[in-house]
Amino acid sequence: MSDKFDVIVIGGGPAGYHAAIRAAQLGLKSAVVDAFVGKDGKAALGGTCLNVGCIPSKALLDSSKQFFNLSHNLPAHGISVENAKVDMATFIGRKDKIVKQFTGGVDQLFKTNKIVSFFGKGKLLKGNEVEITGNDGKKQTISATNVILASGSVPIELPFAKFDGKNIIDNAGALDIDKVPKTLGVIGAGVIGLELGSVWNRLGAQVTILEALPDFLGTADADIAKVAQREFKKQGLDIKLGAKLGKAEVKKDGVHLVYTDKDGEKELVVDKLLVAVGRRAYTDGLLADDTGVKLDERGRIIVDEHCHTGVDGVWAVGDAVRGPMLAHKGFEEGMAVAEWIAGKAGHVNYDTIPWVIYTEPEIAWAGKTEKQLKDEGVPYRTGSFPFAAIGRAVAMNEAIGQVKMIAHAETDRILGVHMVGPGVSELIAECVVAMEFKGSSEDLARIVHAHPTLSEAVHEAALSVDKRAIHKGN
Ligand code: NAD
Repeated sequence: MSDKFDVIVIGGGPAGYHAAIRAAQLGLKSAVVDAFVGKDGKAALGGTCLNVGCIPSKALLDSSKQFFNLSHNLPAHGISVENAKVDMATFIGRKDKIVKQFTGGVDQLFKTNKIVSFFGKGKLLKGNEVEITGNDGKKQTISATNVILASGSVPIELPFAKFDGKNIIDNAGALDIDKVPKTLGVIGAGVIGLELGSVWNRLGAQVTILEALPDFLGTADADIAKVAQREFKKQGLDIKLGAKLGKAEVKKDGVHLVYTDKDGEKELVVDKLLVAVGRRAYTDGLLADDTGVKLDERGRIIVDEHCHTGVDGVWAVGDAVRGPMLAHKGFEEGMAVAEWIAGKAGHVNYDTIPWVIYTEPEIAWAGKTEKQLKDEGVPYRTGSFPFAAIGRAVAMNEAIGQVKMIAHAETDRILGVHMVGPGVSELIAECVVAMEFKGSSEDLARIVHAHPTLSEAVHEAALSVDKRAIHKGN
């Protein structure tokens, strides 16, 4: 086989494998270079998302939710189970099996699409050549008309709380704890801190989350964050805001933390510490000095609105470039770049990317928050509806949270939808479609929603924008 390709993708994560498959669909001879090695020591496609991110965390969130429900939800249904136990080997093993199924699935898709896989670390050289240092140490160079950089991101390490894989862990470590710790400290009340903190809290660990910022979940709409904070507290998550970690020291009896909050310096000892203070673009060793590809002040690959680096035939997508670090943002960029390369009209609408936090209750949103619109001086109306008045949610004994819709005061165009409650990770999709089609709250208000379903909360919130919700006072 010739070593000259139409497209080489460096990175087989969400952004990279979508780019490669779409490129292959469009008739381009494609290759993917990926260095990830799975738990079994074998090369594994799918990047962070499939191996140590989205998929395994959802597996553990679902298992831990089942366990938590035994004591916290089922009694209300009149069902009791005594002496419920978690078998940790099965708990972790189920997750590993799911990971294997999906990473193997990408491998299979590559074969189906005749995409060539190179397992090793790729480095872009001048002239669209890619040097591969194989997982076996051997080097080879391949080249392409177009190279797509999709190298992803890695956890940010705090200099005073360095990961050791055992006591001080990152997201990957928190997916492989073999015994429920009595106490778990988490640095950062962001997406990873809340999701993985929830997993271990549900299994019985006493979880303390230290968050440096004074506001809880500042990127979400304030009304939604307030409900979520209240519910997490009820579940036993101890979230300390305005708490800045100063030191973490591993001693015999655990990890000793020193942090400061508004009252001064405090100490906390935990069995394990999860550091989840964000991720940074991973470009270590990715670029030879003379490629011309530039990085911004945060180490991200600089690209234009078409994910082009400014260097002929070199593109970059996903976590390694600007924009939210979300797998589905990477999916869309990957596919769009393949289409642009093939001379087609790729498209990514960054204004309607949904955010989902897979806690219980789930949190989801798309578009602007009320605060953002206020700051921008955009006139708006809001409507909201509580799940407490949704028959299906009450029947499920999960009647927590609300849907809040924000529409332009004059045009009624939907500007943002914010949700906390049961199943909102799925409900947000309807709103994204409406927003993508520049829909109004009136559009959603006049669309038939099945009864009884959770989606009626979206319908009622849309009616509520015009003060005509049926199942609440307006
Ligand atoms: P994040 O940016 O979501 O949250 C990090 C939090 O840590 C922030 O609230 C920040 O204020 C806080 N923080 C930073 N430094 C701190 C310090 N020294 N002490 C205390 N708090 C500190 O980052 P994350 O949770 O690590 O997630 C990383 C990325 O992965 C995010 O971009 C996220 O969107 C993505 N991700 C998404 C999902 C999802 O979509 N469900 C799930 C997991 C991860």
